[in-house]
Amino acid sequence: MDSKNLYQEVILDHNKKPRNWGKLADASHHAEGLNPLCGDHIWLSLKLDGDKIGSIAFEGESCAICKASSSMMTTNVKGKSVDAAEQLIQEFRDMATGKLDTGSQPNHLGRLSVFAGVRDLPSRVKCAILPWHTLHAALNSEETISTEGDRDPVETER
Ligand code: ZN
Repeated sequence: MDSKNLYQEVILDHNKKPRNWGKLADASHHAEGLNPLCGDHIWLSLKLDGDKIGSIAFEGESCAICKASSSMMTTNVKGKSVDAAEQLIQEFRDMATGKLDTGSQPNHLGRLSVFAGVRDLPSRVKCAILPWHTLHAALNSEETISTEGDRDPVETER
């Protein structure tokens, strides 16, 4: 299967059956993510177990790319340490913005690299990255992030 077909299959699968859908009643961290450009709006909640992400859930209204990226993110960071999750956030952002070539540079993205294709679709980059920025916000106790405005997490370097 070529990468384009794999990308479409993964997006369709996670869009139809999003993993970890819902809200955690006993969340220790949460954040809301907005992407006004597309209309994506997600809520992310997680519960830390020591320094690990013990449980994580998301819900909201979003396009297929955002929903699939959120779903895959939750399955990939669940059980990981906060440091490992932050590393994945950085790598995913670098991949989606074209700074990281997952084929030739070391990374921990694994199957998440199917999203590398969004770098050629500028209007979709923010859709794919939104859940990752929302996770970063939640881990850093920020309640809301938006991909628009003066705190644009895509354009602004940390
Ligand atoms: Zn979107």
